[in-house]
Amino acid sequence: MNIVTKVESWLEFRKLLTDKKIGFVPTMGHLHDGHGSLFKRAKQENDIVVASIFINPTQFNQSNDFANYPRTLDHDVAFLQSFEVDYLFLPEASEIYPDDYQFQMTENVLSVELEGEYRPGHFNGMLTVVLKLLNIIQADRAYFGEKDYQQLLLVEKMVKALFLPVKIIPCETIRAKDNVALSSRNSRLNEEQRLKASHFPRLLQSELSSFEITDELKKLGFKVDYIVEKWQRRLGAVWLDDIRLIDNFSL
Ligand code: AMP
Repeated sequence: MNIVTKVESWLEFRKLLTDKKIGFVPTMGHLHDGHGSLFKRAKQENDIVVASIFINPTQFNQSNDFANYPRTLDHDVAFLQSFEVDYLFLPEASEIYPDDYQFQMTENVLSVELEGEYRPGHFNGMLTVVLKLLNIIQADRAYFGEKDYQQLLLVEKMVKALFLPVKIIPCETIRAKDNVALSSRNSRLNEEQRLKASHFPRLLQSELSSFEITDELKKLGFKVDYIVEKWQRRLGAVWLDDIRLIDNFSL
């Protein structure tokens, strides 16, 4: 696997790949089998797979979340190699933000509710970095998880609005045995929190109304940001102590 840290170096590689179909999987690292399912799908559908690891500072609305975000590069490189990923794009923030974030990508409708309401600025940062990464990598297909459902919808909407020459491929959520969606932040859950966490997908998937689910979760000690039904899905965001979990199920 080639590890590429500079935009210029990637563009040199990219010139040699004009006759190849390229699949791209953007990530923030601390890779798990949820990411793995995206690499696998990208591998099946393309000649070349490019992954990126970039913990994007502009999409964190809380500095301690950014500081605490797990960084496990050695594990991640081995993980990517096991999926036969061809290129890892691993830029520094200065490489991605030569403009110091003076240019931003903003969406005004979908991005202001749910996650956007509880994490102000998050989607601006996310859309800006995804736009930059899509422009840099110039892939045929880019893979996004349904776990971050609102993010997926926003990326699809941006690609359409800006006529970006890439196809967005949604990938289903991969879960642990207890049905909790795999997530890089979950590794911070202790044993007790982990046991409690499994009630979140259980209730989200239940026949109860969103109000009832909110009540049950509160009784169990979760802090609830939202539980809503939208886009033929039920989506939720909750806190277990200082760890925030999001999830969604198709209705
Ligand atoms: P992240 O590293 O958290 O930014 O995630 C990178 C990509 O992997 C995003 O498109 C996520 O939606 C996707 N992803 C994260 N967790 C899962 C999961 N459990 N199942 C499927 N896709 C996931």
